[in-house]
Amino acid sequence: MMDQKINDSLTLGVDLGGTKLNVALVDATGRILSAHKSPIHPEKEPERVIADILTGIDRCLSKTGQKAEALGIGVAAQVDQKGVVRGSQNLGWRNVPLKKKLEKQLGLPVAVTNDVNAATWGEWRYGSGRGVDDLAVLFVGTGIGGGIITGGNLLAGCTNSGGELGHITIVYDGRKCHCPNRGCLEAYAGGWAIAERAQEAVRTALEEGQCLVSLAGSVEKITAATVSRAYHEGDLLARRLVENTGRYLAAGVVSIVNVFNPCLLVLGGGVIEGIPELIQMVKEFTRNRALEAAVEKLEIVKAALGGDAGVIGAAALAQDLLDKAP
Ligand SMILES: [Zn+2]
Repeated sequence: MMDQKINDSLTLGVDLGGTKLNVALVDATGRILSAHKSPIHPEKEPERVIADILTGIDRCLSKTGQKAEALGIGVAAQVDQKGVVRGSQNLGWRNVPLKKKLEKQLGLPVAVTNDVNAATWGEWRYGSGRGVDDLAVLFVGTGIGGGIITGGNLLAGCTNSGGELGHITIVYDGRKCHCPNRGCLEAYAGGWAIAERAQEAVRTALEEGQCLVSLAGSVEKITAATVSRAYHEGDLLARRLVENTGRYLAAGVVSIVNVFNPCLLVLGGGVIEGIPELIQMVKEFTRNRALEAAVEKLEIVKAALGGDAGVIGAAALAQDLLDKAP
């Protein structure tokens, strides 16, 4: 029998979004032992949010009576290599030394990254990307985020902001994005953009839009979830919107696979969960449009961990801190 050291360390994973917080105690195989979800303090000041995180950790640990040896946190923010939150639109933070603050309060090693990188890490280590060294992960939610694992490493870039797959330009001078650019993938296929496109379509063709309006209550209330419901009820306008979303997504995916040549592309996030048919559409378009060599071995699959990818990935990053420790 191989003499293999069994790792039984437990770590904490934290997923910090713009309004809510998810904390989990996770074992070294990526299994969640306990979890606690809560909203964060509406004022969002760093000290108050850190207090919310500490409460979440207490709740999590007291459920099982066990101890954690490190913590990983994914934040909806731009984070530098030293664990400083450089900026977060969602939280209104600038230059918050989160790693230092948490290490001081907890007395544990802490890894800080952005939320999408954490979720990418989770899908890579314990989800659909397990065992693959070259993969791209695309999360299509309200916005679009992603991550690139290349040669077994997460692509970080010069200032740790690499892998912003939602901001690939797919239409020059196209729809205005939430970033300084126009025509980004997110500005067409992100949840907020699907809602905008649907509302515009309904305004120009009120008759065709009856189903969407009646499901949402009014034109302004139409969301990506409304489009998903109408699509599954067989509505023709919703079908057109979804098929176009599939084409836009594929346009982004073609660029991603041509540039990074992954073996595997993982698609996840709320929009994909709501309309899983998009995966098949993306597969067909990508096969026809991408470079032959780029799709020769490419597989496109659905993400496996759902909303838990962030906490599981953050906890895995914390495990890596322990592995690296002397
Ligand atoms: Zn953009």
